[in-house]
Amino acid sequence: MTRRRISILGATGSIGQNTIDLIKRDLAAYEVVALTGAGNIAQLATDARALRAQVAVTADAHRLDDLRAALAGSGIEAAAGQAALSEAAARPADWVMSAIVGAAGLAPGMAALEQGATLALANKESLVCGGTLILETARKHNARLLPVDSEHSAVFQALVGEDMAAVERIVITASGGAFSDWPLADLPNATLAQASSHPNWDMGQRITIDSASMFNKALEVIETREYFGVEPDKIEVLVHPESMIHALVGFHDGALMAHVGPPDMRHAIGYALHWPERRALPVERLDLAAIGSLTFRAPDTARWPALRLAREVMARGGLAGAVFNAAKETALDGFIAGHLSFTAMAEVVEQVLTQMDAAGGHIDAQMTLDNVVAADHLARRTARNIIEKRAG
Ligand code: NAD
Ligand code: MG
Repeated sequence: MTRRRISILGATGSIGQNTIDLIKRDLAAYEVVALTGAGNIAQLATDARALRAQVAVTADAHRLDDLRAALAGSGIEAAAGQAALSEAAARPADWVMSAIVGAAGLAPGMAALEQGATLALANKESLVCGGTLILETARKHNARLLPVDSEHSAVFQALVGEDMAAVERIVITASGGAFSDWPLADLPNATLAQASSHPNWDMGQRITIDSASMFNKALEVIETREYFGVEPDKIEVLVHPESMIHALVGFHDGALMAHVGPPDMRHAIGYALHWPERRALPVERLDLAAIGSLTFRAPDTARWPALRLAREVMARGGLAGAVFNAAKETALDGFIAGHLSFTAMAEVVEQVLTQMDAAGGHIDAQMTLDNVVAADHLARRTARNIIEKRAG
């Protein structure tokens, strides 16, 4: 049997580690090409040795010597820096997991598509920044794009055998994150530690905070539009605190197909890994009688302005998604560093969008990788200026 060649971009993170957990259970079936990480050199080297990877890459250009030392005697190549990430992603592979966090995942993801690999996309930021670019690159190189975000995997599964013309709406669920029940007046005082703990999902710190602010769901609404090509008014967000139903697809005969499962990313990762087959996975089997009931409510727009901003970004079109994501990443850096309050993040993002919209140029530029990167950089600079001014 020929082994499947796979690479994992962002191997040291939460999605990367869950992917490795699945791969390790059947290591003989895979030939691991590249693993990438950033600051976590020890983890990267340990995994590269365990999976007998061809090459390990750290995004951090200053850590090449550390990575070489950690891989000494293994025969595994070491490389460092952004260009090395894309070079690793361009090495021939059958399946590539895109699990870098942030817009930094866009160029390596494109490189993987250009060499024709199936790209399992956890990095939702790539679709938000450069949806058309990603989809066109996939089409041009006859490469497949499979969703890994739990909601999008759920929608994808609910659509098997269906006609998109029969789809009336797509409902993605949101747990509500850490603060769904807090009094609104307390939100500005939410601390980093409070925002970094999620009631249901164990994820990287950045997406956990984005879940509390609903910026994660805002990105996912745009991701839904890009991936499934549906109009914004067909996409709904539903708060569902138990995180058991991940998404529902509504059809024009009134039927709703719901995807139900435990909050464990190994389901969506495993589905993308084995697609089009459905193989056995080591996830909990839900006992619905023991769970008893599931609850739902409409999202509170005053609590979560990010959801309104996502609608404005979709209406604006062009490169507004790249600006939105970059402003969000910079505001999140500001919150993590203690320079911004929890609620100020959305205010900064809105200001960046308003300023760059008024300036026109970048948002209206054609969608190319260079223009996306330029809009991203300008949005980050604009956000940093706003954050500095607020700090006075
Ligand atoms: P994480 O922070 O745990 O891991 C991020 C990975 O990216 C690490 O390997 C890190 O070394 C690497 N990285 C960080 N900065 C980088 C940079 N500038 N350049 C290159 N590599 C860099 O994040 P995560 O929670 O695993 O999320 C990864 C992606 O998957 C994100 O796009 C996130 O939105 C998405 N996602 C995550 C989950 C989840 O359950 N964790 C669910 C759905 C979608
Ligand atoms: Mg999700």
